[in-house]
Amino acid sequence: MSLNAQAQLDQIAAEIVKNNVCPDLAKTAKHLVFGEGNPRAAIVFIGEAPGRQEDETGRPFVGASGKFLGELLESVGLKRTDVYITSILKYRPPDNRDPLPEEKEAFMPYLQAQLEAIQPKLVVTLGRHSLNCFLPALRISAVHGQVQTYKQWTILPLYHPAAALYNGSMRQALIDDFAKLPLITKHIT
Ligand code: URA
Repeated sequence: MSLNAQAQLDQIAAEIVKNNVCPDLAKTAKHLVFGEGNPRAAIVFIGEAPGRQEDETGRPFVGASGKFLGELLESVGLKRTDVYITSILKYRPPDNRDPLPEEKEAFMPYLQAQLEAIQPKLVVTLGRHSLNCFLPALRISAVHGQVQTYKQWTILPLYHPAAALYNGSMRQALIDDFAKLPLITKHIT
């Protein structure tokens, strides 16, 4: 009998710990920030890595960028509990430094497993790190808001809310791209 989506997600989180993924990050982090939301969500949002508040709470996107993400979701009639939210790295990098290539690589199989468990219609990548984990040749400034395909997944690259928060033109682009979400999800079968 196959496990239900939530049980599969719980198992993937346990494997990250059991397999000692990125032990240096695990040592300095307070919590594993695995992801949360609807295990059968139609839309999965993928950020870069937990920040300070995420590390404190063990929950993704609960700091300033998370508040902005919540407002963006609300603007298209969605709640956090309707979607699934996670990041590539499940541990906070010290001092919020950029994730290293080998750290992103180490977490990719677990991110792929999360997608396999949830089976979303649409994968929304937030920021260049998240986009380039799936589609390394693409530049976010060129393709944000434009639907892409990677394996069986339909991907919508968006700017990261943290980058857009204090940059007027990026902020407007993110708001405009987000407004396309309902139409995009409606057209994916
Ligand atoms: N930025 C991310 O990419 N992920 C989080 O969980 C928080 C901030």
